[in-house]
Amino acid sequence: MFHFFPESIIKDWKSQTEDFNQTTHESSGIETSSGEHTQYLQKLSILDEHKKTAQTLKEMLEEILKLLRNWIVKNDKDSETEKTKNNETSTAVQTIEPPKQTDNNETLQAEETTIKSSNNQSDGVKVYTLNGFTLTIINEVQDFGQEIEQRIFDTFNKVYPKMRERFNKEATKNVTLIVDSKLNETARTSNKTIEIHSAHFKETPLDTDTITHELMHVLQSSYPNFELRWLIEGLADYARWKYGCDTHQEKLTNFESKHNYTDSYKVTARFLVWLETKVNDKVVDRLNEGLQKNQYKNGTLWKEITQKSVDDLWNEYTKNPDLSK
Ligand SMILES: [Zn+2]
Repeated sequence: MFHFFPESIIKDWKSQTEDFNQTTHESSGIETSSGEHTQYLQKLSILDEHKKTAQTLKEMLEEILKLLRNWIVKNDKDSETEKTKNNETSTAVQTIEPPKQTDNNETLQAEETTIKSSNNQSDGVKVYTLNGFTLTIINEVQDFGQEIEQRIFDTFNKVYPKMRERFNKEATKNVTLIVDSKLNETARTSNKTIEIHSAHFKETPLDTDTITHELMHVLQSSYPNFELRWLIEGLADYARWKYGCDTHQEKLTNFESKHNYTDSYKVTARFLVWLETKVNDKVVDRLNEGLQKNQYKNGTLWKEITQKSVDDLWNEYTKNPDLSK
């Protein structure tokens, strides 16, 4: 590993040591003659040489020690660097992990809020809050469990902020959901209050996208009038298709020749999807904006957006209702 003793130095040192030993043994008697004096001087000279050799060896050993120290320090540093790298890698993995973890965190926060709120309020009222958005669930029936309520809040949390950002940035962030067994329809919305019949979640516990549809109505509550019910409901089902948590295909109906754009709900929603895909990708945003500003004007809004009447557009749609781009 270390080759700091040149062969010549080692041999020289060995031979000088042997000479010295020999000389010392031979001169163990009392030295009195001039010959002995000469021998004595020779021995001194040899001792001097040994001293120099020892000094050289000492310096070489010091050099080796220095190198060893540097080598040890470098190794320590390398292993530290390696540790840091490993730490960085694991941190990076945790950061990348993401959507799933975020979802979990969000659910946890929601659960924490729920517990806190239910302690403060009467039974059947729970307030779910996350990122400034609040859903108050008033469950008058209380015949379905926490799991469904949590799923409803997860849907609210996934769809409402996005829809609000797109369709009505001024809309409320606080929505109330009343689950009622006496409602004479599946669901209805008035301003920021949604009412849903309790049977809906008993029969179709996974269908929380009814909430998505009703949340669009919350955003539409700023419309100055609700005369165009077919278009309002069509936009709500479009939002359900676009933002809902179920697979998209289940949320649109198949085209049938007997359909008309005023049929409302999924029939109109499918027409809107077709228009957005084939005619103008801003058509839904412009219609929503036009309804908010009371600019429908007996349908001239369609011409302003697409340069065609709604009847002409529907006629084109019926000839080729395919939704693929
Ligand atoms: Zn509706």
